[in-house]
Amino acid sequence: MNTEAFFKISYGLYIISTEFKGKKNGYVANTAFQVTAEPPQIAISCNKDNFTSHLIEQSGHFSISVLEEQASAELIGLFGYKSGKDVNKFLNTPYISGKSGVPVVTQECIAWFECKLITQYDVGSHIVFIGEIIDNGLLNESKLPLTYLYYRNVKKGKAPKNAPTYIKPEQADAEMVQEKDRSMQKYQCLVCDHIYDPLEGDPDSGIPPGTPFEDLPDDWMCPVCGAAKEDFEPYN
Ligand code: FE
Repeated sequence: MNTEAFFKISYGLYIISTEFKGKKNGYVANTAFQVTAEPPQIAISCNKDNFTSHLIEQSGHFSISVLEEQASAELIGLFGYKSGKDVNKFLNTPYISGKSGVPVVTQECIAWFECKLITQYDVGSHIVFIGEIIDNGLLNESKLPLTYLYYRNVKKGKAPKNAPTYIKPEQADAEMVQEKDRSMQKYQCLVCDHIYDPLEGDPDSGIPPGTPFEDLPDDWMCPVCGAAKEDFEPYN
């Protein structure tokens, strides 16, 4: 199987949310796509291990918020790399309530859809949910949607382990560069697998190329998921 071929398929990035009996939850998905125009229906593919999957099956409704290109690592980290079993993702996240009562994330999003679950297919590790759009709206017409390509190339993000497009690290990069100089040691985020490379630094956070991991400020955060510096370990 040529894993590189999978990266030639383009996607956007979305926050899928729902609520059942007062429990709100959501996760970051790259698989949301319109399947019919009349009636307007959208399909999503959700890992069975995702808490949100169980909630959608029970609530019968879900929402899709389209992330903007400059969505923050904090928001993607919260919804993409943390489990709703451990944290209340909606505690400090702005949202509106849809007609069915499901939450719709509005923070750093440019459009949204509210869907009524019509049917679902068990496809092994994931469930494909098909929903009919019962309401939708625009939040910001001046901003661009975040694409999976931009997330991977510019934000250096990787698919979390529950994503349909997840590829095991050992499968993915054959670019194992042996660094002799310890100060050029790469570090990997234990939450999202992002690799900090001292040769590249983290220019978006004002960290110039050539900055050893040890010299990063204590409050530096993973640019992909917002995890703390302590959540990194040496990467070989
Ligand atoms: Fe991370």
